[in-house]
Amino acid sequence: MNKLDSISHFINGKPVDSSSGRGRYADVFNPALGVPIARVSLATADEVGAAVAAAAAAFPAWSATPPLTRARILFKYLQLCQQHTDEFAALLTREHGKTFSDAQGEVARGIEMLEFAVGIPQLLKGEFTDQISRGIDAWSMRQALGVVAGITPFNFPVMVPMWMFPIAIACGNTFVLKPSERDPSASLLHAKLLQQAGLPDGVFNVVQGDKAAVDALLDHPQVQAISFVGSTPIAEYIYARGCATGKRVQALGGAKNHMVVMPDADMSMAVDALIGAAYGSAGERCMAISVVVAVGDAGDQLIGALAARTRTLKIRDGMAADAEMGPVVSAAAKQRIEKLIGEGVEQGAQLVVDGRGCVVAGRENGFFVGGTLFDHVTPQMSIYQQEIFGPVLCMLRVPDVANAVDLINGNQYGNGVAIYTRDGGVAREFVRLIQVGMVGVNLPLPVPMAFNSFGGWKRSMFGDHHAYGPEGVRFYTRHKAVMQRWPNTASSGVEFAFPQMK
Ligand code: NAD
Repeated sequence: MNKLDSISHFINGKPVDSSSGRGRYADVFNPALGVPIARVSLATADEVGAAVAAAAAAFPAWSATPPLTRARILFKYLQLCQQHTDEFAALLTREHGKTFSDAQGEVARGIEMLEFAVGIPQLLKGEFTDQISRGIDAWSMRQALGVVAGITPFNFPVMVPMWMFPIAIACGNTFVLKPSERDPSASLLHAKLLQQAGLPDGVFNVVQGDKAAVDALLDHPQVQAISFVGSTPIAEYIYARGCATGKRVQALGGAKNHMVVMPDADMSMAVDALIGAAYGSAGERCMAISVVVAVGDAGDQLIGALAARTRTLKIRDGMAADAEMGPVVSAAAKQRIEKLIGEGVEQGAQLVVDGRGCVVAGRENGFFVGGTLFDHVTPQMSIYQQEIFGPVLCMLRVPDVANAVDLINGNQYGNGVAIYTRDGGVAREFVRLIQVGMVGVNLPLPVPMAFNSFGGWKRSMFGDHHAYGPEGVRFYTRHKAVMQRWPNTASSGVEFAFPQMK
C-alpha cells in the first residue's frame, strides 16, 4: 500500500505534523471509493497549547491594526478564494463526497461571509451621545475578545469555518480552528491562502484532532470564546463545559427540519423542493428537509411524484458531471442510516422507496445510500424522533395546519422549517406561531445570507448569539461604555449621593 499523505496542524504560520513518530492520527477516507486516502494528525493538549500561545502572542498587534487594514487583507483573501474555488471544491468532494457542483456552491456561500466581513470598519462603529450631563459625553465601542476558537462539523468543511473566522479576525481577534477530522484538508487551504493574503503569523491557526483537542480548547484559560457547530449532544456538552470555564459560547446543534405542504400548494414546486432539500448532499445538511408534513389530501397529491423522482436520483461519485447525489461520509454513517431505515419498517412505517444496499457501478466499496422515502410515519417512531442525517424523507399526514404547528413545536429541534401554500393568511400565521429559528415560505432551505444571521431554536442551538452577520460581530466583540469630562468644565464638588439630572 502506498504511504498515505499526512494532514498537519498549522501553528504560527507553519505546518506542524504530529502524525509521524509517536503522535496519534486518524485515517481520512474518500467516501466514494471507500478507501483511506490520507492520515490526519490528532493534536495533543500541548499542541493545542502551542496554537493558543501563538494566537495570544499575535493578539496585541492584530487587535491594534486598524479595521480597514484588516479588511484589506480579508479582501485579498476573498479574491484568492474566488481563484481557488475549484481547488476547494475538489477537496470537498474527495473527502466529504458531495457533488462537485454542490461543493462549488458551498465555497460561494463561504465567500459571501467574506463579502460581509470586509465591511468591518462600518460594522464596528460605536454610538456617541453628546452632553449626557453638563460637560459630559458618553460613547460605546466594541472591542475584540482575544483568542477565540471554532470547532466545526464534517458536512461543510469550507463554509462553516467561514461562518466564524472571517468575522472573528475582522473584529481583531486571533483564531484557532479545530475542523472535523473526517475532512480536514480544506482548513489547510484556508491557512495557506490567508497567509498569501498577508495575514500575520499566529492570527489564524489550525489544530487537527478529536475530543482531546476540543477538551484542551474548552479548558484553556486563554481561550475567550468558542463557536461550535455539530450534533446536539456535543453542542450541549461544549456549551456546558465552555460556560463552566467562563467562556462565551455559541453552540449550534442538530436538526429535524419539517416542510408543511398545504392542499392548495403548487405541488410540482413542492415536489422539486422536497427532492432537492431532502436528498441534496445526501441529506447531510443541517437545513435538509427530512420530514414532509402533508396536510389534508396533500399527501395523496405528493406521494406518487415523490416516489418516482426518488427512484430516479442519479447517485454517483461526486466528481461525475451528472451526479445529483454522492455517498454519505463514512461506513459508520451508512450503517447507522440503514439501521434506522430498518427500524422504520419494524415500527410500521410504509417504506415506499428503499435506499438500502445501494451499489454504484465502478465504486462498489463506496459509502452509498439510495434515496429513501417513507409514508405514514408517526411521531413515536425512531425515524421521526432521531436526526438521521442521510437521504431519508419521512412523510407524516395531519388533518389541518394547527396539527402541523403542534407537531413541529413539540419536536426537540428548531433549526429550519418551510411551508408551501398559496394562502398568505395561513403562511403569515404559521410564521408567527412556529417555534423554529429559520422559516421559509415556499422556500425549502431558508438559510440566511451573510448579512443576516443564522441559528436555530430549542435543542438546535445553545447560547445567545446566532452565527455570522450582525450577531457574529456582537459575539466576537465586547461592549464598552465610556463617559468623559474634561477639567475645564465646572466641578460639582464632592458628591456622596447618586447624581440627579438638573
Ligand atoms: P459532531 O458533533 O460529531 O462533530 C462536530 C465537531 O465536534 C467535530 O469537530 C468533532 O471532532 C467534535 N467532536 C465530536 N465528538 C466529540 C466529543 N465527544 N467531544 C468533543 N468534541 C467532539 O458532528 P458531525 O457529525 O461532524 O456533523 C454533523 C452534525 O452537525 C449534525 O448533527 C448536523 O445537524 C450538525 N450541523 C449543525 C449545523 C447548524 O448550523 N445547526 C450546521 C452543520 C451541521
